[in-house]
Amino acid sequence: MTERPATPPRVRRTATTLADGRELIYFDDSEPYLSGAQSRTVVDERPLHDRPTAGMMRQDALTGDWVSIADHRQNRTFLPPTDECPLCPSGGGTMPSEIPAHEYDVVVFENRFPSFASGSTAVGSSTNPLLAHAPALGRCEVVCFTSDHDASFSSLSRARARTVVDVWADRTRELSALDAVEHVFIFENRGEEIGVTLRHPHGQIYAYPFVPARTAALLRAATEHHQRTGRLLGADVLAAELDAASRVVIRGAAWTVYVPYAASWPVEVHLVPNRDVPDLVALDNDERDELAEVYLDLLHRLDRYYEGPDGAPISLPYIAGWHQAPVRRGRDVSRLHLQVMSVLRAPGRLKYLAGSESGVGAWINDVSPEAVAARLREVG
Ligand SMILES: [Zn+2]
Repeated sequence: MTERPATPPRVRRTATTLADGRELIYFDDSEPYLSGAQSRTVVDERPLHDRPTAGMMRQDALTGDWVSIADHRQNRTFLPPTDECPLCPSGGGTMPSEIPAHEYDVVVFENRFPSFASGSTAVGSSTNPLLAHAPALGRCEVVCFTSDHDASFSSLSRARARTVVDVWADRTRELSALDAVEHVFIFENRGEEIGVTLRHPHGQIYAYPFVPARTAALLRAATEHHQRTGRLLGADVLAAELDAASRVVIRGAAWTVYVPYAASWPVEVHLVPNRDVPDLVALDNDERDELAEVYLDLLHRLDRYYEGPDGAPISLPYIAGWHQAPVRRGRDVSRLHLQVMSVLRAPGRLKYLAGSESGVGAWINDVSPEAVAARLREVG
């Protein structure tokens, strides 16, 4: 794989430091910053002192899964009023925000309440191997897609969505280079039904010091398929979905959107590249251009999927997560894909992950994947 520049010249990247030492990076795609006519020199003057650290993680001996114990997160900001939004530019509200500038395009900064952080040294006292623990090393970042508090990803321009794609690739490349990091997960939670604590349009990035459970399951299946057939599981599943055709929603030159054959969630779609790539870093310029276009098309369809009693479309609460190859394992068998899923099973009705799903991980889906795909084609 050839090394690509951190960001194409259509975006200017300026890294700076917040008052407590956390890193903040501006990704400017508009003037006067893009050309360099003006440079970012703003200083965070808030009285923040100690750089936030993460706590510890403990291993569940019954499953082998790692759990981050982050009790400091209980105090994090919860649905603040608009004029106290920590993700709006500073200067408009009653208090300085996390972003010490009067305006921005896209900005990334280290989470003030991280589940994983580079400075973590917390360890437990137990020496029993069944009570294993480790410092929760890694990094958690926030990605603000726009300075417009009332926007959403689906209302971004195609040019701005394209900038976000570059930002995702930039962060994947940098975070993958950190010693402690084994996996980089980029995601967005949208809607209070999903548990969003800040309404400002933003996503998050978790760089974990281990390969998370579902990622490990995906890797196991991909490895077994590759050993048996010599082929990539993700590519063969895409071919099977194209052959079946009934669940395909969008077919582009570089990307395909389909509802998976065994969808778990009431609304679930996968957005996959047509070419075999392990992660976002490996996408070329044409693929990044089309990704911005196809993803916006998909989000517009999701926001028209349900209608309220008055016929008005309902903004779909969703989780969107990028499944990338782990940093050090299985990169030759992993294939990039985006999974978008919603807990809304009908207008005003949420699917709860109850006994079967939460207890034993056995999913029951009341909606046929073919019906979901038909509706998403209809509202295109
Ligand atoms: Zn805001």
